[in-house]
Amino acid sequence: MSKDMREFLYETHLHTAEGSACGKTPGAEYVHTYKEAGYDGIIVTDHFFNGNSVARFMEFATWEEKVDVFCSGYEQAKEAGEKIGLKVFFGWESGYAGTEFLVYGLTKEWLLKHPEIVGCSIRKQYELVHEAGGMVIHAHPFREAPYIAEIRLEPEYVDGVEVYNRANESRNPVFNKRAYRYAKDNDLPMTCGSDIHQAGSPVCAMCFEKPLHSIEDYINAVCKRKKYSFYTEGS
Ligand SMILES: [Zn+2]
Ligand SMILES: [Zn+2]
Repeated sequence: MSKDMREFLYETHLHTAEGSACGKTPGAEYVHTYKEAGYDGIIVTDHFFNGNSVARFMEFATWEEKVDVFCSGYEQAKEAGEKIGLKVFFGWESGYAGTEFLVYGLTKEWLLKHPEIVGCSIRKQYELVHEAGGMVIHAHPFREAPYIAEIRLEPEYVDGVEVYNRANESRNPVFNKRAYRYAKDNDLPMTCGSDIHQAGSPVCAMCFEKPLHSIEDYINAVCKRKKYSFYTEGS
């Protein structure tokens, strides 16, 4: 990767084998590939209980046990990241019959106290996340795939739009072009993320002039539209 080293690179959309049923790489393995690629940090966003989450299939487990499993990919990545100097932040990707949202800024402690987040409406999700100081981003809003029942847009219940999803580029680049247009037309902040499920797959980064020290720094940068850019190999 030949990115300008004065910038700080972050992955914002990543699935681990521990948390996501479709995730192939354990959290602790990812950190090495991102460190080597020059990133400053990653945000783990495993599929939530209303998506393709490993914990979703734990029918007889308690909420606490499910939350433990759900957070384990992030926790493994964080521990490994601390050893090598790669920041690891927490988020998740919720799913509503294929309409998906990246949720940032909440914690395991918050989740333990708020099981009602599972099964709530898109509007209620937005309210709960906002009450706790978090942020909701519409993930790949125009992706077309068998698991997505229909394209549903909810501009009033999101803080921003993932306009460049690296995995979409391999499906059909027009999905990202439509997302960009949608964000522009609704004057919503824009993000990019790899939606990576396996280390070694193509990635893209959000690039900042100053380092992010917490997930709150990321939320502020997006919501307050601080200066940042997108980078992907070959761009
Ligand atoms: Zn997945
Ligand atoms: Zn995803």
